[in-house]
Amino acid sequence: MQARLILILLLIAFAAVSRSVLAQDKGTLDPQPLPPLANPNDPKIGAKQLFARKLLPSAQPAKVIGAYNKGCLAGAAKMPWDGDTWQVMRISRNRYWGYPGTLALLKRLSVKAHKDAGWPGLLIGDIGQPRGGPALSGHASHQIGLDADVWLTPMPDHTLSRQDREEMSATMMVRNDRLDIDPKAWTPQHWMVLRDAAQEPAVQRIFVNAAIKKALCREATGDRHWLEKIRPWWGHDYHFHIRLRCPPGATECHGQQDQTGGDGCKPSDLGYWFKESVLHPKPEPAKPRVGITLAQLPKDCKAVLNAPNAKPQ
Ligand SMILES: [Zn+2]
Repeated sequence: MQARLILILLLIAFAAVSRSVLAQDKGTLDPQPLPPLANPNDPKIGAKQLFARKLLPSAQPAKVIGAYNKGCLAGAAKMPWDGDTWQVMRISRNRYWGYPGTLALLKRLSVKAHKDAGWPGLLIGDIGQPRGGPALSGHASHQIGLDADVWLTPMPDHTLSRQDREEMSATMMVRNDRLDIDPKAWTPQHWMVLRDAAQEPAVQRIFVNAAIKKALCREATGDRHWLEKIRPWWGHDYHFHIRLRCPPGATECHGQQDQTGGDGCKPSDLGYWFKESVLHPKPEPAKPRVGITLAQLPKDCKAVLNAPNAKPQ
């Protein structure tokens, strides 16, 4: 009887682990081009189909157009795959493009986190597509080159192979019951890296799993002002999401208000996220969605889409 119980518990634990591993998409060493669209001028086609087929940025000056979840990016720059204190992951996704200021921020943060927190370096996940815009998978935002995902796994001490970059799993930071961080994975360096990111004036918000926000609230010492920018959001068990404010003078960028209301650590701030219905939402059947069309994006996104390719960087 007891052996059966142990077996059942092991199976449950295994199911939980395999689910959390699957929750992180792997890349491929052999990315295949998307098939051409039968009728790319069909006004009813999802804009994601058009933007996902652009493999290089537009040959235009860098310009942020629209909102984080409804826009595009002209003249994107490429995040170099390797630096002393960063490496780009999941190269096959071709989402290492961003507004130049975003890439400068990531580079600066990687150096600062290395110095302040002893963090070896940043593993960079998705930034944006070469021309921004909606994507076929993964995000509603990341459309205007001002969002970037950074793994919560420290960079290994060697240059990762292409295969590692596609297949290595990030570290799961959240405990199985989802009520707190996993103490085996979480370190004081984690909150220092998040603090360094939040203290950057160009950063407006950072999204993390609620369990991580809870840990930050408990552990952060000294000035706690930066906690105001860190916001719980679904997912984000393996990575944090940095969102930059609109760059100065970017008149076509539709930004957001700064967050207010203090450090967000009160039980009334966090309680919502630990309700049963939020921790374990009922799975919704996946419906194929067209998503927003080109006509629903800002007008200039059509010019971004139709502009010639920039030279490979
Ligand atoms: Zn993200």
